[in-house]
Amino acid sequence: MSSALDARFFDGRSSRPHAARLHVQGDVLTITPAPGEDFAPLRVPLAQVRWPERTRHGGRIAQLPQGASVQALDVAAWDEWAAQQGRAESWVVRAQQNWRGVALALVLLVAATAALYQWGLPWVARGVTAAIPLRVDAMVGAEVLASIDESLLLPSALPPADQERIRRAFAQMVQTAHPGDVPSWKLEFRRGRDKKLGPNALALPGGTIVLTDELVLLMPGNDEAVLGVLGHELGHVRLRHAMRQLVQVSAVGFAVSVAFGDYGTLIGSAPVLLAALGYSRDAEREADAESVRLMRAVGISPRVMVAFFEAIERWRSEQKRAGLDDDAIGLAFSSHPATAERIAFFKDAAVN
Ligand SMILES: [Zn+2]
Repeated sequence: MSSALDARFFDGRSSRPHAARLHVQGDVLTITPAPGEDFAPLRVPLAQVRWPERTRHGGRIAQLPQGASVQALDVAAWDEWAAQQGRAESWVVRAQQNWRGVALALVLLVAATAALYQWGLPWVARGVTAAIPLRVDAMVGAEVLASIDESLLLPSALPPADQERIRRAFAQMVQTAHPGDVPSWKLEFRRGRDKKLGPNALALPGGTIVLTDELVLLMPGNDEAVLGVLGHELGHVRLRHAMRQLVQVSAVGFAVSVAFGDYGTLIGSAPVLLAALGYSRDAEREADAESVRLMRAVGISPRVMVAFFEAIERWRSEQKRAGLDDDAIGLAFSSHPATAERIAFFKDAAVN
């Protein structure tokens, strides 16, 4: 039994939209004119429909053969209708219909498994990550931000002038350290909900860095430590550490996604996975090195980070005394322990 969905139909020849109704019957998508329209009804085998990826934001456009397409009028209604048609299993459905995709996925899988034994997971994750288009990072980042906005974050209460001062100083620092090749980033100010996140910063895939008010206020009047932390997060952004972590925990899923160009399932599961993950020591080392590079570019002494780690440790022991958990999300800055090795790294950087 199949229900109908109202949609906008483009025939691929003119840019004029037609009001249409979509039905799925068996393996065929039928596009019929809505009352008052007069195009010839179209029957397209489902195997030839390129369905849109499901993301929380943005519209839905399904591509049909010969440049035709159908577009959602109402995204929520579209998703509900698509779910009824069993679209949740999109890649499985397409895997069965696309033997070339299956062959490619198998080759990738065998290669990934072989490489895994030979060189280890981090190396494989780096290679697979390089094959993922950057727009996927941005979609993952948007999904994760929406998810933590619902569960962990509130709007910032910092005066706009303070936000602007920090944003401008960070922009200048990035520009000075990477002239001609400025990495793309976006700074989002938020306040932690229920003291769960505390003084913290978090780099999301795609370049969004979330900074909490509590971190800005941890050492009042000292923007230099805030800039050092942001520099560390920029290191995670530039090296796509969060994406690599995602790839590492679901290597098989990503090999299939790369083969089929369909990242919907992975984007949907990213918030849950990222909340549970942490960075490796190597990733932390690389991010700390980026922090030092950026601070040096504008004449900030890396020593500010030593004072900052002490302040974070004080906050952490207060949390413990109050019986509160500070591990709300594994990729957040305060979840990375300020080990003696890291503190020594910033101390050395200050004198060399
Ligand atoms: Zn980090």
